[in-house]
Amino acid sequence: MKRRLTLVSTGDELLSGRTLNSHPAIVTQAVAPLGLQLSRVLMVGDDVRDIRDAVSAAVETSAAVLVGGGLGPTPDDVTRQGVAEALGRSLHMDPELADRIRRRAAERGQPVPAILDRQAMVIEGARILDNRVGSAPGQLVEAEGTAVFLLPGPPAEFEAVFRDHVLPWLREHLASEEALVERVLMTCGIPEVEIARSLEEAGLPVEGCSLSFRPAAGAVEVCFRAPGTLKERLEECTRKAGEVLGSCVYAEERIGLAEAVGRLLVREKRTVAVAESCTGGLLGALITEVSGSSRYFVGGIIAYSNEVKERHLGVPAEVLQKYGAVSAECAEAMAAGVRSRLSADVGVAITGIAGPTGGTAEKPVGLVFVAVADADGVLSVRRFFRGGRNTIRRWSAQTALDMVRRRLLGLEPEFRDRPLGSVGRG
Ligand code: ATP
Ligand code: MG
Repeated sequence: MKRRLTLVSTGDELLSGRTLNSHPAIVTQAVAPLGLQLSRVLMVGDDVRDIRDAVSAAVETSAAVLVGGGLGPTPDDVTRQGVAEALGRSLHMDPELADRIRRRAAERGQPVPAILDRQAMVIEGARILDNRVGSAPGQLVEAEGTAVFLLPGPPAEFEAVFRDHVLPWLREHLASEEALVERVLMTCGIPEVEIARSLEEAGLPVEGCSLSFRPAAGAVEVCFRAPGTLKERLEECTRKAGEVLGSCVYAEERIGLAEAVGRLLVREKRTVAVAESCTGGLLGALITEVSGSSRYFVGGIIAYSNEVKERHLGVPAEVLQKYGAVSAECAEAMAAGVRSRLSADVGVAITGIAGPTGGTAEKPVGLVFVAVADADGVLSVRRFFRGGRNTIRRWSAQTALDMVRRRLLGLEPEFRDRPLGSVGRG
């Protein structure tokens, strides 16, 4: 029996690199809990023959083939035709569907050109899959023991049709008894290698559980997976890992650090204000990406020039002269300054050299100071990040969030050294 799951992604923009293919991630994440994974991802341009050949090859080995993109009304949308040719089926116009598509467009106040009818071309024997977020419906054709799904390209539409129609089909026809369950620990302020080392020393993961890491700037997702039959062992494994990683774990579900810090601020009923130099507003952007952040985020000052640092944050001129703008002293004065000027409970500040220009031997690119101030005083850390300008800025902002988190939990300002797990976690 065919068991594979194959994705055929279509579109010239994918091949040229103008658009990154986001469909594989949508599929992979959604099918993992079913114990499934993608076997292959094929990418082809908007070309009938290429689509035909890719689908033919995929059908030979796959129980399900997902074809993404090219269901729009324009002449470059040729997926219907390519799939029809691969399966040796005809294409016909479904007048009822054409009517529905026209009505929908009209209801939304969109123009209703004749080419819209192209979206009503249906492959012989196909079932129409309703698309609740866009105009192009999907299609399902079953042939030669394979289910071929046609899905619209825009990621939100692809995901909607996938979740509404493909996932239930996969659950019914392909899900394995051994469906994987997973547990995640979200960590920050600790390098991936250090996590791997400490877990290994503690004998983790235990047999039957797998371990994977997904690092992003300043945070690493630690994910344990096991077959559903070993669920208790998985819980135990995750619990032990949590002890080992201690205060570096900021959440036990997939959320960003800004969201975790936001929840903490709400819980502690505190407000925060930011003073940013080299991050130019990135920290404020991360904080306000979280819905409901108005409950704890007061605002911020982007103090790029020394003049703004002095005038609007009250950084003493002597500090700037003696230590420079990229210094612990300046970061601390910025944090204390923004806290008092914006009347927040917590002030947090970032100053550093994001590069690639502007570094010196004494203060190289990547040197960043982050400070946090609250009613108990102010403290700062000195960090050195490697990477391009954006990486350095991203790490700086994450570090600032982590310092706020640690301050609120009464922890040391940063994870320094082994042994891990020596400090408690809130
Ligand atoms: P439309 O009716 O919008 O034309 P469609 O089903 O024909 O929908 P495409 O023309 O293939 O879809 O793609 C429309 C847009 O969706 C692309 O310009 C691109 O921005 C986005 N898109 C398509 N496929 C992908 C993909 N695999 N990953 C990310 N974005 C994609
Ligand atoms: Mg299109």
